[in-house]
Amino acid sequence: MIKIIPSLFLKMSLLSASLITACFTFAGSKKISLAQVTKDITYLASDDLKGRGNFSAEISQAANYIAKRFKENGLVAADAISAQGFLQKYQVTKIRPKELSLTLNGQVINSENLAMASTVANFSWLITENAQANNTDNKFKVHSVSKDDDMQAFINKLNKQGGQHLVLLNPAHETLFKPYQNYFKRGVTKLKQDNTDKVKGGVIVIVLTATTAKQIKSLQVSGVSTISNNELTNVVAVLPGKSKPDEIVLYSAHYDHLGMKNAEGDNIYNGADDNASGTTAIINIAQYYAKQGHNARTLLFAAFSAEELGGFGSQYFSKQLDPKTITAMINIEMIGKPSKFGAGSLWMTGMERSTLGEQLNNVLAKDGKKIHQDPYPEQGLFYRSDNATLARLGVPAHSFISTQLDKDKHYHQVSDDINSLNLSSLHKVIEALAIATQPLVDGSITPSRIDVNLVKKKGLIY
Ligand SMILES: [Zn+2]
Repeated sequence: MIKIIPSLFLKMSLLSASLITACFTFAGSKKISLAQVTKDITYLASDDLKGRGNFSAEISQAANYIAKRFKENGLVAADAISAQGFLQKYQVTKIRPKELSLTLNGQVINSENLAMASTVANFSWLITENAQANNTDNKFKVHSVSKDDDMQAFINKLNKQGGQHLVLLNPAHETLFKPYQNYFKRGVTKLKQDNTDKVKGGVIVIVLTATTAKQIKSLQVSGVSTISNNELTNVVAVLPGKSKPDEIVLYSAHYDHLGMKNAEGDNIYNGADDNASGTTAIINIAQYYAKQGHNARTLLFAAFSAEELGGFGSQYFSKQLDPKTITAMINIEMIGKPSKFGAGSLWMTGMERSTLGEQLNNVLAKDGKKIHQDPYPEQGLFYRSDNATLARLGVPAHSFISTQLDKDKHYHQVSDDINSLNLSSLHKVIEALAIATQPLVDGSITPSRIDVNLVKKKGLIY
């Protein structure tokens, strides 16, 4: 699951959540084996894979393992969606700020008062004393944010708009400025655009200064970034539909994590919960439905990379097929520990956005079970995993989670390892998801589409 920067965290809205307790027990259902679940997650979360960091050799080992498990269960490659065998390769572009210099009214501004997010290799802006005469070639806009303005809303708006912007930020916002400065320093990562695509993006430079736009007499700004491209891999596999092959049910989970940290002692981000657990789920659900052998709809299984970098695996994936053909996306994230509703229980994000949750609950109700609403709406979890990319395209795309994110101490820590999990609870959640989604697989339920106008757009710059 993607982390959000603290300043953005403050903007999350509050929705209501229903907190009805019930837990799943599917006594008698032996089709998903606890032993196999344990075997898969033990390998994926092992130290051998060194935290499945993007661009590492070990994440490729993880990809090969997932592909092997799909293959041995009789799934086939998804050649139609640009996979080579089970591996779907794509490139991401990393843009890192290298240099920024800014002179305002003859004064060189110290770097500690500057922040830059840029998707371009270099840019230079100029305002001279004869601004009207010399400013015609400049493509940038200058904005002032006063002490009473909402800084985050303003920067957010520019990010969605794209283009080149200089923001003169009143020093009253210094506390909020710092997290942006730190965040921007790390650079931005984008899915590499095809040559034919018009590259969208731009520049935001923030200057902490009491000077306002109207007071600018002269300005000189130049910024340089380094750009590099690197390859990553999704693992995708198909169980072709028997009677409704053109309708797809997508089961997904990201399999990347944070790799290793520079430290003595335990320095491996095993990501057992985040998200070896979800990856294990899709492998075992694939096995379950492959054994059944009578899926009406086509079942597509996707293990995404680059989720922790910003969801680039799912972004690439979503461009390789018509999203209208996807009936539903069951994205599985962090299901290795009992939820606040009990062992074996789970909840989903954005339940109110489609009829999927209600329809799945109709199945579970027969056993007196249910999938709960997201109990942490303030955390904006609907937007923090790969489902959001598909939801922006109208797909009923939700994440299914169990972890207690309000108090989990292992999230994005090296301690998120196999010992922190409850494997019996994990197994029950996987069974619950397999059973609840049976009518989707059979083609007997079709959830409503997500209203794309109600889904927040992704920023173009950072
Ligand atoms: Zn994560």
